[in-house]
Amino acid sequence: MSAATWQVCAACGSEISETDPHPRCPRCGGLLEVRHRPPPQGGHALRATFDARRGVWRGALASGVWRFIEAVLPNAGEHILTYPEGNTPLLTSAPVAHWAGSPALLLKHEGLNPTGSFKDRGMTVGVTQARRIGARAVSCASTGNTAASLAAYAALAGLPALVLVPKDQVAAGKLAQALAYGARTLLVRGNFDDCLELADQASERLGVYLLNSVNPFRLEGQKTIVFELLQQLSWDPPDWIVVPAGNLGNTAAFGKALEEGRAWGLIDRVPRLAAVQAEGAAPFASSFRSGFARLDRVTPHTLATAISIGNPVSHERAARAIRETNGVVTTVSDDDILEAKAAVDGAGIGCEPASAAAVAGVRRLVKEGVIGKTDRVVAVLTGHVLKDPATVVHYHQEREPRPARANRPVEIEVNLAEVERLMRG
Ligand SMILES: *Cc1c(COP(=O)(O)O)cnc(C)c1O
Ligand SMILES: [Zn+2]
Repeated sequence: MSAATWQVCAACGSEISETDPHPRCPRCGGLLEVRHRPPPQGGHALRATFDARRGVWRGALASGVWRFIEAVLPNAGEHILTYPEGNTPLLTSAPVAHWAGSPALLLKHEGLNPTGSFKDRGMTVGVTQARRIGARAVSCASTGNTAASLAAYAALAGLPALVLVPKDQVAAGKLAQALAYGARTLLVRGNFDDCLELADQASERLGVYLLNSVNPFRLEGQKTIVFELLQQLSWDPPDWIVVPAGNLGNTAAFGKALEEGRAWGLIDRVPRLAAVQAEGAAPFASSFRSGFARLDRVTPHTLATAISIGNPVSHERAARAIRETNGVVTTVSDDDILEAKAAVDGAGIGCEPASAAAVAGVRRLVKEGVIGKTDRVVAVLTGHVLKDPATVVHYHQEREPRPARANRPVEIEVNLAEVERLMRG
């Protein structure tokens, strides 16, 4: 194709235009990938362009996604819909680094996006693309955060939104957001994988634009987590980037960002990717152990609902990301996740359970000698502490046996002596 941006089917190789409205390959139903012709100015000049925009306060270029427009969706133009999002901090925390056994650990806090998760980075691009192709409504299946983000961005765009979530498996903060932002919300009596199949079929039947991570434009936005953290490190790449992994959209997006970053001269060295799954929802980790020979669908069970996924849609492209970055895939137990979360929360930073999986993963990989003690590591905190209040309250208030980090509240009468006694005790 002669255009600067186009789409390619990963399964059959068909090329289609960047404004083709199908969320999947119209020939074979395979997953599509967005391709960009390398920006003509070269890596050095491109970095300078990105860096110069860090002082921008208004308009699309103030967004931590659209600041990288040349690498995201160069022709989005007047269709761009931005909150803005991104511009999330890269934090140091001595207590978290100590807990993980990784002194140089940095935390990229994506929970500080407008709706409290990294999903906003993909959604700003997805809804922008929906406007470009003239979609009349948008939809998604979700474990919660995609629904919250879609609901908000659809409302900003004035588009009707339909979200399908698994009944009783969505954290309270996320469901509340979907309702608050006005999305038509369906509570499906099934798990996330069931929701995704249903959303896929419904979008075709109803002509609604599907904005799951099936949609390749969302991944273009999620790449900017990597671009932004590289920029925050003055384009000096860390040794590792560690990310929790569910449907594997982020793992795939990170791989693509690193591949393009090197090909376009933004970086001269590619960090290794580590994808971390919950033990009870780890089809990608099993697949990794078999050299990605195959993927066996599992029935997922983990309290980290955002990564409770048994049949990850981006499996193939995520496997490529792990292979090409000499990466690894590992697992952590729900107990590890809760302990990591208590460490992150107790340090004053806070994150949702799925995000803590990344930090628990760092600890495991350091213990196993995969990540070196002096390696520079960035762990991505994918969601905000307020997303899942029930898990927090249960851990601190009710969990038995009492966890070492449990912060039990104490009920008292209106009595100063009792306050005194408890403060001294
Ligand atoms: C969506 C999500 C994940 C999982 O990301 P994938 O791209 O599906 O692997 C992890 N953490 C949080 C908080 C999420 O919202
Ligand atoms: Zn195809």
